[in-house]
Amino acid sequence: MFFTPHIADARKARWEDPTLTWGLVPTMGYLHEGHLSLVRRARADNDRVAVSVFVNPTQFAPDEDLSTYPRDLEQDMRLLRAEGVDLAFVPSVAEMYGKGFQTTIVVQDVTKRLEGASRPSHFLGVATVVTKLLNIIQPTTAYFGQKDIQQTIVIRRMVADLNINSRIAVCPTMRESDGLAMSSRNAYLSSTERQAATVLYKALQTAKHALDRGERNGEHIRRVMRRLIHNERLARIDYVSLADIETLEELDMVETAAVASLAVFIGRTRLIDNLIWREL
Ligand code: AMP
Repeated sequence: MFFTPHIADARKARWEDPTLTWGLVPTMGYLHEGHLSLVRRARADNDRVAVSVFVNPTQFAPDEDLSTYPRDLEQDMRLLRAEGVDLAFVPSVAEMYGKGFQTTIVVQDVTKRLEGASRPSHFLGVATVVTKLLNIIQPTTAYFGQKDIQQTIVIRRMVADLNINSRIAVCPTMRESDGLAMSSRNAYLSSTERQAATVLYKALQTAKHALDRGERNGEHIRRVMRRLIHNERLARIDYVSLADIETLEELDMVETAAVASLAVFIGRTRLIDNLIWREL
C-alpha cells in the first residue's frame, strides 16, 4: 500500500496506468466495519482502491467535536493494508487548504433541511472537500454510506450539476448486532449511553412496522418515533423526519417510498440514522 500525505504524489499514483479503474472511499478515519464494507465494495468493483483519511475542519461548526474527534492513524493503516488497499491518501489541513484558499461549493435546496438545518455550514464543508477529493483522485467510482443519506443526495446532486467525471455508489449501513449503526462517534458513548443509543434503531423499526401495516400518515409516524425516543431518559431529539426520498421534504402522506431519518443526542453525543422504506 502506498501511503502519502501529498496531493501531487496521490495523483501520480492514480495516473501511473490510465487504463485501470479506481475506486475512492473518502473517510475521516477511526475506521470501523462500516468504512471497511465500502472498501470491500470498491475492491470488488475496481482494479485499484484509494482511501482518504482526512478529518475535514470545514464541516465542523465551532461548537462541534473537531478537537475531540477520535483518531488512530496506525490502526487505520493496518486495517487498510489488510484490505488490500492500494493508496492511502492522508493529507494535512495545510495540504488541503493552502494559503489564500477561498472557494466553496454550495448545493442549494437539499442542504437546507435535516442535517443542514441543524448544522448550517456542514454541507458547505462536505461538498467542497468531496469535490477536492474527487478532483485529486479522479476515481472511476466513489463510495459513500447510506448512513449519511443526506450527504449522498447532496453529493449526487453536486456531481451531476458540476459534471464531475466519477460515478457515486451508495452502500448499505453496517450495524452492531443490536441494530446501532456503526459510527466513529460511538466511541464517545459510556456503557449506559451505549445501551440507550439503540433507541435510534428501535424508532426506525417502529416507523417501518407502521408503514408495513399500511399506515400512511406522515405526522402520525413521526409522532410514534418521537414518543419512543422520549421514553429513553438519556436521549434528546434533534430531529425526527419522514420525508421524500429525493427532496427530503417532510411527507404528509406516504405514497410508495419514504426515508425515515433522525438525529438524537445521547448524552453529549449526536447520533444519526435512517431507513429507506419502499412499498413491496
Ligand atoms: P466518516 O468517516 O464518518 O466520514 O464516514 C466515511 C464514509 O463511511 C461515509 O460515506 C459514511 O457514510 C460511511 N459510513 C460511516 N458509517 C457507516 C456505516 N455504519 N455503514 C456504512 N457506511 C458507513
